[in-house]
Formats: sequence, C-alpha cells, structure tokens
Amino acid sequence: MARGFDDKMGAFVVMEALRIASRRKLKCALVAVSTVQEEIGLRGATTSAFSVAPDVAVAVDVTHGTDQPDVDKKRFGEVKLGGGPVLHRGANMNAVVTERLVKAATTKKISYQMIGVPGASGTDAWTMQLSRGGVATGLVSVPLRYMHTPVEVLNLKDLTAAAELLAAFAAGLDEGVDFIPQ
Ligand SMILES: [Zn+2]
Repeated sequence: MARGFDDKMGAFVVMEALRIASRRKLKCALVAVSTVQEEIGLRGATTSAFSVAPDVAVAVDVTHGTDQPDVDKKRFGEVKLGGGPVLHRGANMNAVVTERLVKAATTKKISYQMIGVPGASGTDAWTMQLSRGGVATGLVSVPLRYMHTPVEVLNLKDLTAAAELLAAFAAGLDEGVDFIPQ
C-alpha cells in the first residue's frame, strides 16, 4: 500500500523491463520514457512521443481493480489484484500490438487479464497513438485498488509479471513486423 502508485509503479515496471530486456539480444532500439503531467492532459507523453518518434509504443499505467465493493464491473471490467497485467482491446489499441502482447504472455506463461476499452483509455496511450503520422500503440496496466487516494493497493507480483511481459514483447520485435491489422 502506498500513495502515488499511479503512476510511480509505472517507472518501476519500465525500468525492470529494461533490466530484463538488457540480458537479451534485441533486434530493435528500445527507449524508455518517464512522463510528467499525465493526469492533467497527457502532456509529457505528447512531447516525449514526438521526440522519440517510435514505430511502436506501449504505455504502462494502472487500471481499477474491481475485486472490491462499490466498483462498477460493467464499466471497468473484471479485474483482480494478483491476476496479472491487464491488456485491452479497443480504438486506442493497435490490434497487432495487443495480439503480440497476448502471444508474449502465453509463450512466457504469464497470466494476464483482458478488458474492453471502447474509447479513450485515460492513459498516455491515447496521445502516443496520434503522435506525428500515428504510432502502433499498446497498453499494459497493473490492477490497483482505491486509485487516486492516499491508500492505493496493488499486488507486487503483477508488477514483476508486467515487466517480464514487456521485455518479452520487445524481444519479439524486429524491423519486419507489420503493425497494419489484417
Ligand atoms: Zn491516475
């Protein structure tokens, strides 16, 4: 339990993913960015995505754990703490990126949860996707209870699993990957 897991846990997950990925032979350039001002208009991600100009980008954020009273599962989906990182389908997600994340999780035997996000994801993925001429964008979320309160709660296993998933995803990329959905 801590305050500000949203989104200091993202910085941990991304750095841990980099550490794991550094032990593999990558066939892509891998860039990590820690963004500011996400909560007030995705501002840091807007400038960072423009500067990095990525072919593919994955945002790391929290999502509402719904295994507690008073959370609308119809709105936020079925999300359990300890159930693994959360992946998403919807307009903000490149379908190929999502399928590759699913494949990476399956191959590495990392359990994950899938929810639908019909519109804005409320994360940096939303602005990264529309950077320059468009970026193939994905989102890996960690379940969090009591978001935006001083007593945010998460499961540390979900953090490690999210980092392993991201490293496996990066290891599977090379210049031949086509992100245009078939
Ligand atoms: Zn937030």
